Amino acid sequence: MSWANQNYPEESIQLKAAFANSVAYLVTGLNGGYGGPSLREHLVSWTVETAGKASPGSWTFEKATAFSAPLCFSPTAKFLGRLAEIQEVEACFDDDPEDLLALRESRQGRSPLPSPEIQEIINSWLSGDYKKAIALTNLYSRRSGLRFCKGINRDGSPCGKVLAPQAKGDYCLRHRHQARKRLSMPPTS
Ligand SMILES: [Zn+2]
Repeated sequence: MSWANQNYPEESIQLKAAFANSVAYLVTGLNGGYGGPSLREHLVSWTVETAGKASPGSWTFEKATAFSAPLCFSPTAKFLGRLAEIQEVEACFDDDPEDLLALRESRQGRSPLPSPEIQEIINSWLSGDYKKAIALTNLYSRRSGLRFCKGINRDGSPCGKVLAPQAKGDYCLRHRHQARKRLSMPPTS
């Protein structure tokens, strides 16, 4: 948990707990800890099984941390399909509010995720071409009239969360502090 607090201070308590539990599970093979099991914890154990990784209980702390962090802290959209699958078949507790919201919106068809344009944004995002992902998002934003969060995640990837029409500013709740940071930055010249 302290590793999560140090390295991902802005993430929700639910995501940090999922991360701490997942690392403990991989290292010791035991479930428990900070509440849950949440969607993200199931995501970690599902991925361990399907990727044919070493069985829980035999991992080093370093390996468990490196494996669990992207699964627990990446934006919901990156794992939307899989998280939706998990939500249908597993009992989940103590979930991150943004995970739940994104899943609910995708079920209601309010999320623009399935269009080919969006798929291309997701593809560039997944391949690590964040510049292209941001450029495509801006293009899509102008054409669709939707506004997207301009926030950047800790790993350098763009947030891209759709903002509510009445939302003020260009950032989602999680990245609102980045807007403040930018405003308070002194001129560099
Ligand atoms: Zn954001």
